[in-house]
Amino acid sequence: MPIRVLQPEVAMKIAAGEVIERPASVVKELVENSLDAGSTQVTVEVRGGGTQLIRVTDDGGGIPADEVDLAFRRHATSKISGLADLQSVNTLGFRGEALPSIIAVAEISLLTRTRTELAGTYVAFKRGMMVEQGSRGCPEGTTVTVRHLFATVPARLKFLKASSTEVSHISQLVTQYALAYPQVRFSLLIDGRDVFRAPGSGKLLDVVAQLYGLETAKQMIEIDRRSREDKDGVRVWGCVSPPSITRNNRTYISLFVNRRWVQNRRIAVATEEAYRGMLQVGRHPVVVLNVELPPTDVDVNVHPAKGEVKFTREDEVFDAVYRPIRAVIVGSSSVPAMHLPAEVRRQDGASAPPAAFDAGGWTTSLTTDRRDDRAEARSPQTQEVVCGLPVLRVVGQLGETYVVAEGPDGMYLIDQHTAHERILFEKIRRQLEESRVQSQGLLEPLLVELTPSQGDRLESNLSTLASGGFEVEAFGSNACLLRAVPWLLQESNPKDAFVAILDELSAGSATLEWKEKLAMTLSCHGAVRAGQTLTLDEMRELIKQLEKTNLPRTCPHGRPTMVHLSSSLLEKEFGRR
Ligand code: ADP
Ligand code: MG
Repeated sequence: MPIRVLQPEVAMKIAAGEVIERPASVVKELVENSLDAGSTQVTVEVRGGGTQLIRVTDDGGGIPADEVDLAFRRHATSKISGLADLQSVNTLGFRGEALPSIIAVAEISLLTRTRTELAGTYVAFKRGMMVEQGSRGCPEGTTVTVRHLFATVPARLKFLKASSTEVSHISQLVTQYALAYPQVRFSLLIDGRDVFRAPGSGKLLDVVAQLYGLETAKQMIEIDRRSREDKDGVRVWGCVSPPSITRNNRTYISLFVNRRWVQNRRIAVATEEAYRGMLQVGRHPVVVLNVELPPTDVDVNVHPAKGEVKFTREDEVFDAVYRPIRAVIVGSSSVPAMHLPAEVRRQDGASAPPAAFDAGGWTTSLTTDRRDDRAEARSPQTQEVVCGLPVLRVVGQLGETYVVAEGPDGMYLIDQHTAHERILFEKIRRQLEESRVQSQGLLEPLLVELTPSQGDRLESNLSTLASGGFEVEAFGSNACLLRAVPWLLQESNPKDAFVAILDELSAGSATLEWKEKLAMTLSCHGAVRAGQTLTLDEMRELIKQLEKTNLPRTCPHGRPTMVHLSSSLLEKEFGRR
């Protein structure tokens, strides 16, 4: 076929396809226009999954009669006037592409009136042409109605999912905007049904309550921090769930950059990292986060629908997101209750030397000595907020699996394996940071048989394994000899741990660095198992060491190390109250 310039109509449809991918894209563009127009009320109506009808009504500034024509012209916008403005856009739209794109793929009509005009203006387009224009009475604001979306683009129509899927995309979108603009009264009507109403009170938690329920809203923790005080600082505000509230997918994590709903891997990772070690694998937090920074530091122009953004100061943004969330999450960790009784706290500041292992062993941990240990236990980079344990007195062991302990408010059952895992994990991670993992030479080298892919991995990870305390030597083509193993594995089965680490080093999460993986696997294999009898002294030592960890309440995989039966619960159960 010879080269030909496409007919304008065809070119337009192709270009429109980039902006208008599905019904939700239309809703997005129209809602963004309403928000840019300063609306306080935005109503979205959808029929037939959006292909039959989408109508967005707002009470914003409206379009002056003599500009209505222009609004439908490609690259016509009231939001920027030159290249310089592109650097500092603070509106959601700026390309002047939405309305002309919609004309190319649907029938559209618009009714609008500004505050100073007496009558409104009406225009309608069909098959890319204006078919009607005139003036009509209407309230201040704008109503855009889009009908028969993609009717002339059968290929696109074919690829649309079931109307319920399209509807869920649309509700997701509207609710996200409601979270980003708590002062706007959004309502969403699907096939005549009222499915969502945002209160428009200006309070984020009111929207969260409406969306995720009052109980969740009550427990959310609000944050508002600036990375630094000058005008270039990154402000991060919103609310995050405590580790006790989780969901099994990421749709409850809403991220906005300068009030724009975005996908940005760095922010998403920073958010989930902040919960590291606190949530079970596969669980995700509920988060609504606004990142605000000077528009010059964000590029929103990288994606046709502006769903992705880029930062000029990625690391600063990462930190600005990670730190405040981490601080409140670690501080809020409330299972079990963690208040030290008053008399204990008084002793905490005393400078007396460590008491002997007396009074049931539990006063030892109350001296300043413990504080120093803890400070040391914190890795220098992360500067965790320490969340201590209550003072615990060991009572005994249950089912060779749990340590029974008494605390200031009732009974605590500590899982000996997960607790020990937490202890070892932090210890090993620290040793890895300081490259001083203790290794233990074996009297007899251990022969480990390897699959070809394990062999490959071994070769590329030799130095990693060496820093983890494994001294390995090749032995033929499909085996190796273990000459030394990490010290803490000497009592368990080092061969199994070694193979598990080999497998782990190539698989799994891309965000976990090898030190983390190594520490996790080593601690899991090195920790005491359920079914192992512990002496009272061993149990006391376990609790003592657990107290010194940064995150004593969860194992490295996020499982709890303990459960708490409060005194009041016991009283209630025994009918004492
Ligand atoms: P953009 O939003 O990128 O400027 P659009 O094609 O979405 O481009 O809209 C073109 C122009 O029409 C906008 O710049 C704005 O001036 C006007 N406009 C569109 N929708 C509305 C609305 N709901 N209220 C007021 N003005 C609007
Ligand atoms: Mg727009």
